[in-house]
Amino acid sequence: MKKTILLIAFFVLSYSYSQNFDTFKNLYNDKNIVDIKSIKTLNDFDQKKLSEKEIDDKIKSFMTDSKIGNFDIPINYSKLKYHGKKNPKEIITFFEAGFDHDMSFVNKPLEIFSFDGVWIFVDNQEFKNIINVFFAARAIQILKFKYPEAYEYLLKPDQVKLGYDKLDSSQGKPPLNKMNPIISFDKSPTKIAGSLWNLKLASKPTLDYRGTKNYENTLNCLTSINYETVRPKEIYKKEDELSNYWLYLREGLIESITHEFIHHYVTNFKFFDMKGGFVFGKRNDSQDQSFQVDVEEAMVINTAETYLIRKGGLSDDLLNFNLGIKYQGKKEILQDLTIASNKARYDALKLLSPPTSDSFDYVYRFYFLD
Ligand SMILES: [Zn+2]
Repeated sequence: MKKTILLIAFFVLSYSYSQNFDTFKNLYNDKNIVDIKSIKTLNDFDQKKLSEKEIDDKIKSFMTDSKIGNFDIPINYSKLKYHGKKNPKEIITFFEAGFDHDMSFVNKPLEIFSFDGVWIFVDNQEFKNIINVFFAARAIQILKFKYPEAYEYLLKPDQVKLGYDKLDSSQGKPPLNKMNPIISFDKSPTKIAGSLWNLKLASKPTLDYRGTKNYENTLNCLTSINYETVRPKEIYKKEDELSNYWLYLREGLIESITHEFIHHYVTNFKFFDMKGGFVFGKRNDSQDQSFQVDVEEAMVINTAETYLIRKGGLSDDLLNFNLGIKYQGKKEILQDLTIASNKARYDALKLLSPPTSDSFDYVYRFYFLD
């Protein structure tokens, strides 16, 4: 019953976005999730005879509207791979203790996709998850084409900057490190999105084809989207839940991915970005336990918003929502430098900032997207 209501609600929504009812009915009735290919958009074209790059170029040419929420674009199906219903550890290397404990919610058979090197996990083949996979792939495409700096640093799977030099091979070569970006739709975050990471250090070297010894470490950067939270309503303020979620998928998701992967940036680049290294070290600081919630959060919001506003594309609803959180944090927690602990945090971050400016927005920010 609930699914029927969902289907009808989506019909109304999808109609207004030129995506027809038959498409959704077929998806719901057909158990084969790879039928994601039958999702229609206004700018569909025959992808069969084109190369991957030709398809990308054509999709890119449809991204002309000033707002990303308005992009009505297909995804590049040649990049979407379905890996079946499997436990992620059958496909990706995980550090078992963390996988069993922190990441236990993905330690089970999931529907696993990848798109352009980014993993996408969903629980099951329910209708809503087919939409989730489609929009995750769409978000990856938009990041790559419209926000290329964010894509390069945050999502590109071969972007490897782990600094685990202690595992250098005996030949003095750097370790081969691998970063797996993962977008998972699950119920783990208390807010709409959250992130966890899992690092598996290679315990012994592997030999490459030349017989050279290498250590291959794996860092899994998991970003979870909780699509059942009420947060999209707080952003978009529409009456019904599905309208809010629909709007969220079209633009809010792109902001969520950027935000969560900036947290991953701190983990990933901690040996290369001194400010990132300082923030990473504070995650386990017993003297300043709220640093991560207060300061890292403010820095991530500030970094993401500064970049996304400069590049353009977000709606006023989404911008105002995030700026509201940012200014609340700034006002209540960070700005009052007469409080000794706030002053200590500010001074430490100021020392790690180029001496260009001492403003809050400058000191409480990472610069890699500038
Ligand atoms: Zn955050």
